Amino acid sequence: MEPSTVIERPKASDLQAPDERIRDNRARWTMATYEECFLCGRGLTEASVNKGWWINLGTDGTLLPEGYFESADYDATLDQGAFPVGSECAKKIHRPFKFKRVTSG
Ligand SMILES: [Zn+2]
Repeated sequence: MEPSTVIERPKASDLQAPDERIRDNRARWTMATYEECFLCGRGLTEASVNKGWWINLGTDGTLLPEGYFESADYDATLDQGAFPVGSECAKKIHRPFKFKRVTSG
């Protein structure tokens, strides 16, 4: 059975911080950061981007499970790409909807 239909996928909008918080964080972190957390906009260091949690966003606004891209039912039209999330926001996301980036070398 395909995991994407067996497990209900969380909606990114249900996990995201309110707009005001995103703005505040963006203003505060602008100069010092490498990337932003997809959910709250808080700045992430290069180390946390490389070693921290990521999510796969679907075009329907839901999170795609880890391993989806290697699965037989992969559909490129459903894929909006992968984005880093901070450690605090990652606590709101259960596996398999968050994953660690695989780095080699
Ligand atoms: Zn965050």
